[in-house]
Amino acid sequence: MRPTVTVVGSHPIDYDPGLKDRLLERLRRRSAYAPAIREAVRDQLEAGVELISDGQVRGDMIEIFASYIPGLTAEGEPAVIGRVEPPRSSPVVLDYREAVRAADGRAEVKAILTGPVTLAHSLKVETDLYPSNDHPSLLKDLARALAVEARRLREAGAEVLQVDEPILSTGAVRVGEVARYVNRVLRAFRGGTRVLHVCGRVVDVYEELEGRIKADVLDHEFAGHPENLEAVAAGSRPVGVGVVRSDEDRVERVREAVRLLERAREELGERIEFVDPDCGLRRLPRRVAREKLRVVRKARDRVFS
Ligand SMILES: [Zn+2]
Repeated sequence: MRPTVTVVGSHPIDYDPGLKDRLLERLRRRSAYAPAIREAVRDQLEAGVELISDGQVRGDMIEIFASYIPGLTAEGEPAVIGRVEPPRSSPVVLDYREAVRAADGRAEVKAILTGPVTLAHSLKVETDLYPSNDHPSLLKDLARALAVEARRLREAGAEVLQVDEPILSTGAVRVGEVARYVNRVLRAFRGGTRVLHVCGRVVDVYEELEGRIKADVLDHEFAGHPENLEAVAAGSRPVGVGVVRSDEDRVERVREAVRLLERAREELGERIEFVDPDCGLRRLPRRVAREKLRVVRKARDRVFS
């Protein structure tokens, strides 16, 4: 089977919803960000991405969730201001549905959640209910809220869920100590394909990720961190291989991405499940993001013809 071309998630489209947009969202008719989602979907389809995202146009990976999970706020610096509870309604489900509608059967849409560990560590604690932002009580409540979202996304029809936990490669936490919170979210996506995305240098944590995290696929960056290949090659889990950088504007030549993917194929063989950019593209100019996606598709086509 040849690997599927996908994205990590975010796409650079700025959109400020108007009053009407917000009202429709409040009535749960449609996402307030529908026009931006349609643009993000179009860019991905035109580039030949086969498993697309909604573009995560609602904000950055912390804002999206801090803005609506009860107990959190995204006003000013994202913070915990009360007891974290599962949300009653889910803007991310509306966004997912909008992307499915826009894709109209031309691509699959994957659901994406920021993991509880990364979310916790990015929040300021402004309540006495939690002692600190790395306290197990906060991690547990966030995992519970995000597990509800994972379940709703599955019920909305998503076949693939990606949980983003960039914090796991930074050394700020021990994978073994927080794995249960990540697993709780992954487990809630019953019967679907569960992906864990961890960007950065994973050389020191890869073995633990495989050992402790219950994901079907581990997705990492290899263009920005080619040294990841050796560590990942020592494992056995299916892999998502990032082949273009998401942190610089220069668009890679197709042959650069091909060379990287060929090396990955030599080392990982059948384990390559996805080919994608290293991380989300939201910080790049839109034209650059589109071109990078085309490079990913061309590289996959050439290496797996
Ligand atoms: Zn990333």
